[in-house]
Amino acid sequence: MSESRFVVAIDGPAGSGKSTVTHLLAKRLGFAHIDTGALYRAIAYRATQMKTSLDDALALGKIATSAKLSFQWLNDRNQIFLDGENVSSMIRTPEISMAASKISAYAPVRDALLQLQRDLGARPPGAVLEGRDIGTVVFPNAEIKFYLNASVDSRARRRMVELEEKGTFLDFEEVKRQVVERDKGDMERKVAPLKKADDAIEVDTTNMNVEQVVDFLFALVQERRGLAQSGRSKGR
Ligand code: C5P
Repeated sequence: MSESRFVVAIDGPAGSGKSTVTHLLAKRLGFAHIDTGALYRAIAYRATQMKTSLDDALALGKIATSAKLSFQWLNDRNQIFLDGENVSSMIRTPEISMAASKISAYAPVRDALLQLQRDLGARPPGAVLEGRDIGTVVFPNAEIKFYLNASVDSRARRRMVELEEKGTFLDFEEVKRQVVERDKGDMERKVAPLKKADDAIEVDTTNMNVEQVVDFLFALVQERRGLAQSGRSKGR
């Protein structure tokens, strides 16, 4: 079987555990980790820095077209560079989350980032891409697709912990409100809305810890690659 390109697509709403799971799964597989949300966040960051109106789809599309975006592993973390600057920590604020969700609804922005995502994901031996439309639009022929989900309360709780680790302290109800608002926007937009691909495997992570989710996904990926070890547990 050709190992030249094996794409794992992971989609799901905010706080479903995608980032941590993708990071660990990619590491275990020896694959690239492509955090596509970081691309939208980086464009939102540049737009707010340039004071570009978040309603101006064409201007935002131009920013996305001219931006030089790349990922690099540094200190065991996947860092994103925008025009040569490491913007990884700047793009994780609640303001940039909301701005990224808003600008990601515009076709010129999505079109500008589509080929980049395909190029990044096509590198051998394989890549794990996380986002909202990986299995539906970016890699509709991905070798395996997952849709991670969890109850809204547990997603908001995870998001709150993530923010606290970065020194941002928000009320639980406020974090939950933002998560719900972002998901609504992502699911209801006309272009590439967040939805489970018909052939994606849905995983409810509400009552699973990170290791359990990674073990479960890893076993299914290896099985699909024809590399499953006989008698291996599927992690659940
Ligand atoms: O995954 P993350 O929360 O970092 O994504 C930030 C925002 O980027 C999402 O709310 C969504 O609007 C947008 N996004 C998207 N398509 C993707 C990845 C992210 O529209 N493939």
